[in-house]
Amino acid sequence: MQDRTYTADAEPGDHVTVAGWVHEVRDLGGIAFLILRDSAGRIQVKFEKDEMDEELVETGLGVSRESVVSVTGAVEEEPRAPTGVEVTPEGMEVVAPADPELPLDPSGKVDADLSTRLDNRTLDLRKDEVQAVFEVRAEILRAARETFRDLNCTEINTPKIVATGTEGGTELFPITYFGEEAFMNQSPQLFKQLIAGSNVERVFEIGPIFRAEEHNTPRHLNEATSIDFEGAFCDESDAMDVAEAVVRSAYEAVAENCTEELEALDLADDFEVPEEEFPRLTYEETIERINATGELDDQLVWGDDLPTEGEKALGEDVGSHYFITDWPSEIKPFYIQDHDDDEQLSTGFDLMHPTMELVSGGKREHRYEQLVDGFEQQGLDPEQFDYYTKMFRYGMPPHAGFGLGGERLVMTILGLENIREAVLFPRDRQRLSP
Ligand code: ATP
Ligand code: MG
Repeated sequence: MQDRTYTADAEPGDHVTVAGWVHEVRDLGGIAFLILRDSAGRIQVKFEKDEMDEELVETGLGVSRESVVSVTGAVEEEPRAPTGVEVTPEGMEVVAPADPELPLDPSGKVDADLSTRLDNRTLDLRKDEVQAVFEVRAEILRAARETFRDLNCTEINTPKIVATGTEGGTELFPITYFGEEAFMNQSPQLFKQLIAGSNVERVFEIGPIFRAEEHNTPRHLNEATSIDFEGAFCDESDAMDVAEAVVRSAYEAVAENCTEELEALDLADDFEVPEEEFPRLTYEETIERINATGELDDQLVWGDDLPTEGEKALGEDVGSHYFITDWPSEIKPFYIQDHDDDEQLSTGFDLMHPTMELVSGGKREHRYEQLVDGFEQQGLDPEQFDYYTKMFRYGMPPHAGFGLGGERLVMTILGLENIREAVLFPRDRQRLSP
């Protein structure tokens, strides 16, 4: 729109056209105020009934909430107005009227449940605290990109329609691809490795992953955003360093660049950037510490996967982000390398927020024979993965990497209760539209 001024830029003495949504109309009798809202903020528009053109006053007071309007007039200082200025209108146009009955109240005075909010995201995002989540999410992804670039990584984009899954099996969504069965990719794992093995060496990708997980939890989606890293000549410790740098930079960026958003979310006072280095616990230490909390009915033994209550108890005990390293090989994927001196021990690691898993990673199996054996042991047909294993015969350097859940990062940074709040249009068991 030509010559439009954002509400936040309107200064006393200016003559402006502001455009946005009708936040509310307050009729005080002889005088009435219309609060106009745009992406930058809000501004008060003053109607003096006896002194202004009748038609203009009628338009201003008759317009329904959430209608889109444009108002032209002079900006004056007004200390009692929410932003210290107000517009005295000369002209007003209702650009797009809103039905008087709204399915959701963007002023937030009436609470809506998550399902109603997700069904009406356009209206939901007109609330400051909801817009703030997505401004923060954008900043987190920007910071992640910047950190990867600083660490010499190249951003890549790999296919989401694939012939075979990463680990095969149950978590795949099948689709029909020109009459043939194909799948939505559950992870860029194999592709990012293929590129780390080229001259590009260090890569990252921020893109969707699809998991046909049946369970419905507050931290699982069926379509999520994965922040992936893979680096040639890296070992698991290098990959952990990168994961830690990305997570820390996300907190720093939010603290530095999202002050208004944190305020809208009521987090400004106690938002903390993790300062200390994230401790690295071995799996063995982890199960001992979980057992010592006494929170579990059954003591964990070597080889057990960590139950959610165990993760929670340990998270409270540790009180910060932490890594779990040296997992039993049998509970980590086959493409992760075992330690040279102990093949029961995997180089796989997880990075944990006190409340949940954020990252899984490890050093990859780059030796052709071992890799093909791994496919067979997993019950997968290596022939089907020939496009992948073949490249391991032509000079595949040692390499390591990780996958970091983008929504889990946003969720844990902002303390959101449900991962769906960190996604515009979540995909879960119940939700396929909008
Ligand atoms: P979990 O055990 O929590 O289900 P996972 O170990 O199956 O996760 P990975 O395959 O290790 O997940 O994926 C790497 C990261 O991607 C996870 O640590 C998590 O942050 C994120 N992630 C994986 N699956 C999902 C999902 N269904 N919804 C949201 N994020 C996910
Ligand atoms: Mg994992």
